[in-house]
Amino acid sequence: RKRRIGLIFGGRSGEHEVSLASAKSVIANLDHEKYEVIPIAITKTGAWLLGADPQALLTAGQDTQPETTTTTVTLTGDPNVRRLIPLEGGEQLRENGALDAIFPVMHGTTGEDGALQGLLEMANVPYVGCGVLGSALGMDKEKMKMIFQTIGLPIVDYLVYRRHEWERSPEAVMDAIEQRLGYPIFIKPANLGSSVGINKAHNRAELEHAINVAAEYDRKIVIEKGINCRELECAVLGNDEPIVSIVGEVAASSEFFDYNAKYIDNKSEITIPAAIPQATAEEIRRQALQAFLALDLSGLARVDFFLEKETGQVYMNEVNTLPGFTQVSMYPMLWEASGIPYSELLDRLIELGIERHADRQ
Ligand code: ATP
Ligand code: MG
Ligand code: MG
Ligand code: MG
Repeated sequence: RKRRIGLIFGGRSGEHEVSLASAKSVIANLDHEKYEVIPIAITKTGAWLLGADPQALLTAGQDTQPETTTTTVTLTGDPNVRRLIPLEGGEQLRENGALDAIFPVMHGTTGEDGALQGLLEMANVPYVGCGVLGSALGMDKEKMKMIFQTIGLPIVDYLVYRRHEWERSPEAVMDAIEQRLGYPIFIKPANLGSSVGINKAHNRAELEHAINVAAEYDRKIVIEKGINCRELECAVLGNDEPIVSIVGEVAASSEFFDYNAKYIDNKSEITIPAAIPQATAEEIRRQALQAFLALDLSGLARVDFFLEKETGQVYMNEVNTLPGFTQVSMYPMLWEASGIPYSELLDRLIELGIERHADRQ
């Protein structure tokens, strides 16, 4: 029997469109001899859509409002517990039975941050990727940094403010930031990705604007010292005994790797393996593994680093627990170059999800 894989994509986050692109790639590369794919789209307004045609669903997922009546769909076949989530627009799942695993091809808030993972835990269905804690830690740039500091991984100097502190005393906040970090600095919503809501500030006027932008996305705002750096990434795969890929470099087409450089203008360059000293690559791979274990990650993560140009110092930037998954995305490309082709990578991720689920029973 083919394994039935529920593929969840879209979602309410600022990375909705990125998720659609990743989902198209995953659907195209899953071995259809082995898997029956059940696409489940979440619209920008948060409605769950179910339908037969992935392509139509991918388009429909973008902006249409569902008009169909709500049906409830059983996620698992366990007769003792009725594990139900509401889905709109289809009877397909109910007719065909339970899912063997869920592949959340979601980026950003509620998909990558542990919220969806919590729902899937409650539904008792195996799923690809990190659990609730790992997902949450990997998404929250403040908590992630706190753990990196605890285990001694080098990070750039930073400050964190809550939205209400900012609204109450903006001048004092900006004074404190200027004193501690100077310019240039990066202003980020604490929980997001794809550079959504991130700006680089070179002066106080830009700083004020950047904090206002970040505060629209999150009640917590992270401000980091900006460094002149190359950007290196490496891929981790596994559960208790993860493996680490070779190191890749990404060179942004603009001043920094903003949303436009990542997804719109297509001029960014990926180099695999990165042209860096062997010792630096080994150091990065070692730190990637440490980060993966310290944050309690499982399944997969892309771990991102800065290499300061003047000093050669390596800094840990962040992890991404559901990294971009198109055929030209760094995570699958790093594995491709490390000897694991895209389709096999998907097989392994599904196996790891099922294995992790069994471990927790
Ligand atoms: P992702 O799409 O990888 O999830 P993200 O939205 O989580 O990204 P970051 O990786 O924190 O955001 O930052 C986005 C980009 O901004 C980086 O790839 C880099 O180009 C630039 N950047 C962020 N912080 C710094 C910094 N402290 N110094 C220099 N450049 C930075
Ligand atoms: Mg990120
Ligand atoms: Mg991300
Ligand atoms: Mg990043």
